[in-house]
Amino acid sequence: MKVSDILASSSQAYPSLEIVPPLRGMTKNELLESIAPFMEFSPKYINVTSHRDEFEYREEADGSFSRHLVRNRISETTVCAAIMSKYDVEVVPHLICGGNTREEIESRLDNLEFLGINNIVALRGDSMTGEKRFTPTPGGYRYASELVEGIRAYQGSAGYRRSRHMEEGGEDGRYFCIGVGAYPEKHFEAANIETDIMNLKKKVDAGADYIITQMFFDNKVYYDFVARCREAGIDVPIIPGLKPLSTARQVSMLPEAFSLDIPLELTKEIEKFSNDKEAVYQIGTEWCAMQCKDLLKSGVPAVHFYTMGKSRNIVEILRECF
Ligand code: FAD
Repeated sequence: MKVSDILASSSQAYPSLEIVPPLRGMTKNELLESIAPFMEFSPKYINVTSHRDEFEYREEADGSFSRHLVRNRISETTVCAAIMSKYDVEVVPHLICGGNTREEIESRLDNLEFLGINNIVALRGDSMTGEKRFTPTPGGYRYASELVEGIRAYQGSAGYRRSRHMEEGGEDGRYFCIGVGAYPEKHFEAANIETDIMNLKKKVDAGADYIITQMFFDNKVYYDFVARCREAGIDVPIIPGLKPLSTARQVSMLPEAFSLDIPLELTKEIEKFSNDKEAVYQIGTEWCAMQCKDLLKSGVPAVHFYTMGKSRNIVEILRECF
């Protein structure tokens, strides 16, 4: 079932869960066990993030250079297939511009369609390690809006229709339900929030069906952002994204990595208990549960959790809120 249909037909807000594919070495069973605790809540779908493979060039004795894979994760498509083989749950793979030519994106779409997956979150992707700014892959897309446009155009194309024996006019290029990302505290590269929202609107105009936000720790930031988006004419659902703080180190790490603020009240509380790991964990969990309850009260359609593959705090929050 498409996320857009789930959003339209759900009478109650639901939790949406995001996991990160493992680095090489984890077995399929270990991965499936790591998400088993979430199944208690019969999730409607599970998002699986996508990551660019990282290569290094080494000089050979003859002066030529050879390319070597130095860091990669199990692909999102493989993880989705593994989840589908064990659990009766929809999967939502992320698809990124970085590292893919347009043709490679089309091939990825074909693979997902082959598995019967009709949901995607379309993103530009992070920069490579050591890169200050995102560099598009030659022959690939620069922005997520171009990726959304490319997905819709590919599936509306004559070649695509012919390969699937479709009648003219029978399919409108909307096989996939497409989600996109948004930043209530502004994407770090955008000059201002207004420009960032205009760029977000380009993704919706290109055919995105719904939006998931970056994590935030102050709900007012989300409510203000949604109001600005509505003023700008963005009318698709905007699902808030939450992540519980779990270590004292994250107080400085998350703002740097995700360009966001952590409220003074929360940082002070964590500082007080910075030598007690479990107390910090509980403070972060309770703060997130408090945010979640408030969002549910405000009538959000769903709450997206960045689980980072860790279930203990998320399970506690879900038990308390849903
Ligand atoms: P875009 O929408 O392309 O925006 C990037 C920047 O370009 C913004 O500053 C925007 O204002 C600007 N911009 C956009 N369009 C234009 C235009 N036409 N002209 C000029 N400027 C423009 N990263 C991963 O690598 N893998 C994942 O699986 C992943 N999942 C994520 C899930 C969510 C819900 C979110 C919010 C983020 C996720 N990310 C992921 C991180 C994301 O890839 C980075 O934040 C990335 O830097 C931006 O991606 P985007 O799709 O929002 O980019």
